[in-house]
Amino acid sequence: MRAAIIHAARDMRIGEVEPTELGPNDVEVRIRHGGICGSDLHYFQDGGFGTVRIREPFIPGHEIAGEVTRTGDAVTTVRPGDRVAVDPSRPCGHCRFCLEGMPRHCLDMRFFGSAMRFPHVQGGFRELLSCTEAQAVPVPDGVKLEHAVFAEPLSVCLHGAVQAGPLLGKRVLVTGTGPIGALALLVARHAGARTVVTTDLADAPLQLARKLGADDTVNVRTDPGGLDRFAADKGYFDVVFEASGSGPALVSALPITRPGGVIVQLGIGGDMTIPINTIVAKEIQLRGTFRFDREFAWAVDFIASGAIDVAPLLTEIVPLDEAVRAFDLAADRSRAMKVQLAL
Ligand code: ZN
Repeated sequence: MRAAIIHAARDMRIGEVEPTELGPNDVEVRIRHGGICGSDLHYFQDGGFGTVRIREPFIPGHEIAGEVTRTGDAVTTVRPGDRVAVDPSRPCGHCRFCLEGMPRHCLDMRFFGSAMRFPHVQGGFRELLSCTEAQAVPVPDGVKLEHAVFAEPLSVCLHGAVQAGPLLGKRVLVTGTGPIGALALLVARHAGARTVVTTDLADAPLQLARKLGADDTVNVRTDPGGLDRFAADKGYFDVVFEASGSGPALVSALPITRPGGVIVQLGIGGDMTIPINTIVAKEIQLRGTFRFDREFAWAVDFIASGAIDVAPLLTEIVPLDEAVRAFDLAADRSRAMKVQLAL
């Protein structure tokens, strides 16, 4: 079967790989759609990010959905022919964090399409993938698989919102309006935010954000003083979702966050220098957020019911053969929000 395989930075080719064995609790999925995420782009463009580097041929991809083709003998929840969104998280189930109900912090996590451990956990940009029964979440009839694929990035944002606490009536700022920032905007709206403002360095994603329901948007490159009006009286926003991973974005959020406000750091960047005294004096709560657990099932439900409409985020579906073009398109923020591979 065919797969998109990254051999080194800027060296991705379509190659043949062997299907993996199917255990009694496993499900084989014929992957149909795969969304290209920022981490996939880092693997392709730079061969990794931070200390995480590709050290063997690597199949990226963790936003995936398809049809069940085979099931192990012990599987009861899905059958061949069922359509599923694949949760890329495969926690061990018996370490202390799994037992404490925080499998996202599993000490032996296998997350599809991650080069964090070696041998790497190969990803989902391939025709056939075996996962555990728990990872194959059924998608109701009538829901397009290209929309179900958004369950993964949406669950990242849902978990970020859980970290933020109640959003009903809150004034929310989203810094960075890539796919995660745009989905955070949709989650904030769904959760009853009173005002949502988003920022970016590019106009195209901000235009889309206004269509998705942002009250206001600020291009902080062309309008560097555009957030100043929110700084009066010690700040305006109750909650900030920092979705850019950029130090300057986090720093710029501090003067406009109200005392006692919450900043959820969704974006992953490098080291940042932040004025810690501002965080102390304004009693700002800076919170981390990492992947998701139960939120994956919520995301499938929200997409299936139409409660959260992800369709406007989908820029283009590109055939697997054109994976390099798809990745280059996904990296062009003037043209693309979310690009998917069709497998
Ligand atoms: Zn575990």
